[in-house]
Amino acid sequence: MTLIKIDRQTWVDGIEKAKSAYRVFGPVKENNDHEFKLLAKGEMPDFNCQNTRMSPKAIIYPQSQIMFTYSLDESKDDCRIMKEVENATSPQVAVGVRPCDALAFPIVRRNFDSPEYQDTYWIKAYEATTFVGLACNAACSTCFCTSAGTGPFGETGLDILLVQDGDTLYAKTLTPKGEALAASAGWSSPAASDVSARLETLKTAAEASVTAAVSTDKLKDKVLLDLYEAPFWEEEAFSCINCGTCTYVCPTCWCFDVQDETHGKSGIRMRNWDSCMFPLFTHHASGHNPRHNNYERLRQRFMHKLKYYVDKYDSGIQCVGCGRCIRLCPVNIDIRRICDKMNSFDAKSCACDVASS
Ligand code: SF4
Ligand code: SF4
Repeated sequence: MTLIKIDRQTWVDGIEKAKSAYRVFGPVKENNDHEFKLLAKGEMPDFNCQNTRMSPKAIIYPQSQIMFTYSLDESKDDCRIMKEVENATSPQVAVGVRPCDALAFPIVRRNFDSPEYQDTYWIKAYEATTFVGLACNAACSTCFCTSAGTGPFGETGLDILLVQDGDTLYAKTLTPKGEALAASAGWSSPAASDVSARLETLKTAAEASVTAAVSTDKLKDKVLLDLYEAPFWEEEAFSCINCGTCTYVCPTCWCFDVQDETHGKSGIRMRNWDSCMFPLFTHHASGHNPRHNNYERLRQRFMHKLKYYVDKYDSGIQCVGCGRCIRLCPVNIDIRRICDKMNSFDAKSCACDVASS
């Protein structure tokens, strides 16, 4: 680990130098929001936002991705033969990833890079990427990262952590990938020896600014079927309009659907992000839908993140506390409220309530 001091001009020069060896992505303001974009020559990441509207997951896992092409032209020898699209990814850097979003990548990796399933598209893109985090000096009112396995200065999933202190950036290199990027960018001035204490002060203040919290300590001990049959799901789902916003903005949601599109005699097979909040997500060809009601779909989303994942991996919740789904849900459905209800749910007292009513 090396702690480097980067002044404004060295930062700008370094990003431009890095672009000759990497594709560089960073937050850019678009209309009223910031989004991660591939930075053009001369374009700099804009850190004047608490976080981007969409998470950086699309840098590794695009919203739509072509997997195969084919021809339906009977006169050709390769008619109806699927041709895999080259998916090699050149080295790339994601700059300005907040620590909550950085933690999401190792969480999602459990799904895409496991003994049961190897998703070569995701794995190649992940391995080609250097993650440069940006510590949060102050949290939003909806952030609860400190309850979700990380914090405003969290380092998990990152190759470099940047800390802003006025006009100066400090870069903490965390992995060989991070060291390689720093060398390529020409960031090499060691920080003064007293900087560590200053960064520790900033970290303590940032952690204190996270005022929202959830309790997750009892989720693992709950009986799965008790939670599944808990009486609060219908009430919580009453206002949900199944728009899917919560899943699309979430850095830890990973579901996709595979579809064919044909134009004339040529076709593509692609995958697109999907959402368990959509009625069609589980619609069978027979017409039957095992999650016909919206409370069943909402229950699936929260049971997956806060119970199935917890039971399967015994490694925290499938949520990093970024707060996007809270900020952007049009009807104010709040994962913090539902998580607290699940964590404190007592099936016995619930059964007594029903018996005595
Ligand atoms: S964002 Fe809100 S309304 Fe839309 S699907 Fe999610 S919980 Fe339902
Ligand atoms: S569930 Fe909500 S708060 Fe948690 S990581 Fe996803 S968008 Fe962020």
